[in-house]
Amino acid sequence: MLVETINGMYINGQWIGPENNKVIEVFNPATFEKIAEIPNGNGEDAKKAIQSAKNAFPGWAEKTARERSQFLYKAYQLMMDRKEKLAKILTMEQGKSLNEARGEIEFAASFLLWNAEEAVRVYGEMIPASKKNKRLWVVPQPIGVVAAITPWNFPSAMITRKVAPAIASGCTVVLKPAEQTPLSAIEIVRIFEEVGLPDGVINLVTGDPVEIGEELMKSSDVRLITFTGSTEVGKTLMRGSALNVKKLALELGGHAPLLVFEDADLDLAAEQAVLSKFRNCGQTCICTNRIYVHESVKDRFMQKLQEKVSNLKLGNGLDEGTDIGPLIDENGLRKVKDQVKDAISKGAEVKFGGNQWYGPGGYFYEPTILSNVTNDMKIMFQETFGPVVPVQSFTNMEEVIDAANDTNYGLAAFLFTNDLNRAITVMEKLEYGIVGINDVFPGTAEAPFGGVKESGLGREGGPEGIKEFLEMKYVSLAVKDTNY
Ligand code: ADP
Repeated sequence: MLVETINGMYINGQWIGPENNKVIEVFNPATFEKIAEIPNGNGEDAKKAIQSAKNAFPGWAEKTARERSQFLYKAYQLMMDRKEKLAKILTMEQGKSLNEARGEIEFAASFLLWNAEEAVRVYGEMIPASKKNKRLWVVPQPIGVVAAITPWNFPSAMITRKVAPAIASGCTVVLKPAEQTPLSAIEIVRIFEEVGLPDGVINLVTGDPVEIGEELMKSSDVRLITFTGSTEVGKTLMRGSALNVKKLALELGGHAPLLVFEDADLDLAAEQAVLSKFRNCGQTCICTNRIYVHESVKDRFMQKLQEKVSNLKLGNGLDEGTDIGPLIDENGLRKVKDQVKDAISKGAEVKFGGNQWYGPGGYFYEPTILSNVTNDMKIMFQETFGPVVPVQSFTNMEEVIDAANDTNYGLAAFLFTNDLNRAITVMEKLEYGIVGINDVFPGTAEAPFGGVKESGLGREGGPEGIKEFLEMKYVSLAVKDTNY
């Protein structure tokens, strides 16, 4: 296959190719095939991109909300028109099945649409003053230059989830996508270019995350870093941003528990557990990481779970009928193997799978179910990011709530029950930013997505999501008595 070298950086409306042949190679994780080379940008490129975003900011912030909104509408339409092409690129660089990739493109486009609609509704506030002669109000204003650092697991949706509200609210952007999946980012920026977004409003820097990250943290021109990725890198960004008290919006790791109560619809619970766990080969921050099932229904639930998992088809995401693609890279595969080995050495029983799969090459691992798991096993407290699920049983509600909350993470938790009172009680006690009740797909453009504890800061989606990109200027006006 011909490997394309792409002018993949976009700064001030210009596409830039690799300098001195310094490239990042992009591979298809299903086949190990090299599919593209993109520029290996560095700190200097990040500086130029920040300057470009800084120059573009006043003009962009000054536009009316309606004008900004129009660009997002057009970008939405173009993205939907190109769904098939974008989905293919996504699958090739990321590995997920084409069906899932199509779903991701629709999800990505939904952020463009929703923020196009919300751009014109970024309202301020009048405050009733305690003094007669005072008038108090709050004026929302864009925060300024925003750095968006995005992950590889949703290479399109995590970009629009950040860039759309930034653009809607009048901010300008330096985007740094994950080095594994830059091609989707390049396609999205091409869309913005084609709809005529003014130069400098979006800039794209690909390359060395540490060098580029340093520049983004160091620069006092960057007023917000919005990041999705590991808790470890999130902490690095927090430390670096302390230097100039930069605002942060962080969507970090998770370790989602899924609770199945004795009155639950077990077919639904098993079906949703499989969707939640094995979607994107388990590489989703709200993926179920551990299942707790009531002792009285454990055997029936396990049987249903095993049946459904045995129907999943591993393979190249481009092939029709594939349910599960590969892991993203060697590190991802190693982590999964290590967690399974650790669990087995401590007494876990493999109910299904448990091995690497060598199919078409690539970083494949069989969908795997573990039982007899104990809390000292890594898989019960380390994020797995792979297609393995441990199942533990419980006998009472308080015990399972404690177990679910016994983690430093707090992104999403799921519970299955048909008892309304139980659903509400458990929901209220779960220390998570997101709770799914009989539902494992809470992510949507109109709702606030985000975590508590070490799962992050801030929210993405909904009006709360736009607020991350705004400063609330408080204005106090004293009115003089006049004799008009
Ligand atoms: P994962 O471990 O799942 O790959 P990361 O948190 O390492 O997740 O990556 C998420 C994003 O953060 C990617 O775009 C990656 O390039 C970027 N990144 C990694 N390290 C740093 C860093 N030190 N500074 C800034 N960005 C980084």
